[in-house]
Amino acid sequence: MQEKLKAIATGARTDISMAKSQEELKKIQVKYLGKKGEITAVLRGMGQLSPEERPLIGSLANKIRDELEALFAERELQLRKEEQQRRIAAEKVDITLPGRPQELGHLHPLTTVMDEIAEIFLGMGFTIADGPEVETDYYNFEALNIPKDHPARDMQDSFYFNPEMLLRTHTSPVQVHTMEKLAPQVPVRIIAPGKVYRRDDDATHSPMFHQVEGLVIDYNVSLADLKGTLLLFARQMFGSHQQVRLRPSFFPFTEPSAEVDISCVMCHGKGCKVCKDTGWIEILGSGMVHPRVLEMSGYDPELYTGYAFGMGVERIAMLKYGVDDLRLFFQNDIRMLRQFR
Ligand SMILES: [Zn+2]
Repeated sequence: MQEKLKAIATGARTDISMAKSQEELKKIQVKYLGKKGEITAVLRGMGQLSPEERPLIGSLANKIRDELEALFAERELQLRKEEQQRRIAAEKVDITLPGRPQELGHLHPLTTVMDEIAEIFLGMGFTIADGPEVETDYYNFEALNIPKDHPARDMQDSFYFNPEMLLRTHTSPVQVHTMEKLAPQVPVRIIAPGKVYRRDDDATHSPMFHQVEGLVIDYNVSLADLKGTLLLFARQMFGSHQQVRLRPSFFPFTEPSAEVDISCVMCHGKGCKVCKDTGWIEILGSGMVHPRVLEMSGYDPELYTGYAFGMGVERIAMLKYGVDDLRLFFQNDIRMLRQFR
């Protein structure tokens, strides 16, 4: 019996060392240690042995079983490593290559410009006001002195949810919300940066773009205050050489109204293609808040005056960075965006 066990063990050791794969090793394990394996069979047949022989054979069989189990585990580990190396070699993976570095993101140029605009006005004592992008017809038009069928509505075609609800076409409704909330307290001194929407799409217009609205209401606010504020803004944004000029214009919610030009940022006023040889570039619309707008939102136009302005953030960014197509800001082309890191 002892001889038989030893012979089985010798065979098993050879088989284990010869195994070429994990599957093969598994089969060998079953052959010797499985339920119907050779060692198992010996242990089962112990009942036929004499009482003297039984413990001897038993302990020998257990010893051999333990030894074989250890050999199987060792060989398995070895085979697994070999297989892994074969796979790596086949895939031609160079595990010594350094990892790919994770690049840190950065702000979008429009966000940077919007932050910069806000920073300048915060420095002048303005606070930031916020409002919804989905507006009612009242806040977007009526309360800004643009009644139904007013021709000014044609310049601001919007996206309507129903006849009374739309995506705001300008940040001006925030003026109305602010006045309604604060009236009749003064001073009001806010800017409202945010997204606006219009049915426009070409090299200088996008269906979604950004505006920064400004509103000041107080006793004795004049056009000179407006011009001084905008001059300071232009100089901080585009350089201390900047000049500002106001051109008469029309907006339903301001009276008088003015388009604001700054000296051309390309030629510094000498005249070039960008400014069409005028030396001036238009950057925003502004004016003194219309008495009807003040009145509708709870301010007595006999007591208070105010000014308002609104600028396109894309326009400012295009001038500041010399970008000639507004759509570049929204195409998410990494080659474009990387330049603003
Ligand atoms: Zn120019």
